[in-house]
Amino acid sequence: MDLDYILDLKAGKELDSLIYKKYYDEDLYIREVHTCPDCGWETKDLETSSRCQACWANGDRVTMDELKEVYDFRPSTNISIAWNIAKKEGIAVIPQSRENGGFDWYACDIEAVKYRGNEIAISIFNDSGISCETAEEAICKCVLLADLSQ
Ligand SMILES: [Zn+2]
Repeated sequence: MDLDYILDLKAGKELDSLIYKKYYDEDLYIREVHTCPDCGWETKDLETSSRCQACWANGDRVTMDELKEVYDFRPSTNISIAWNIAKKEGIAVIPQSRENGGFDWYACDIEAVKYRGNEIAISIFNDSGISCETAEEAICKCVLLADLSQ
């Protein structure tokens, strides 16, 4: 994994997997299931019915989604999870907006800010910094880039 590889990653499964591996030292658990769009009930197969069995118990007939990969740890698209990582790592997240019709984006200047008493230590891992359209993606890539530079 090198700089270009990380920069080319999109928000999603691969980026989430890499972050999970870093913090939990195991592979992200990905389930391949049908999910109920109403209540979230999951099943691996639709042997008996294409309807949600949980909703059926309440008299609702909800058709289950197609079989697809599902997982819960989504730091690259979930700001709550990403923000916990940013806090833990001391990552500086800098919202940036363009006033004249441009898009808003978020920069992580690959700076880890750590407070030691009254002293603020900023270590710059990579002088190019990183900017992404979402803070979540920027935080995730920042973490991976920081590992590269150590
Ligand atoms: Zn349901």
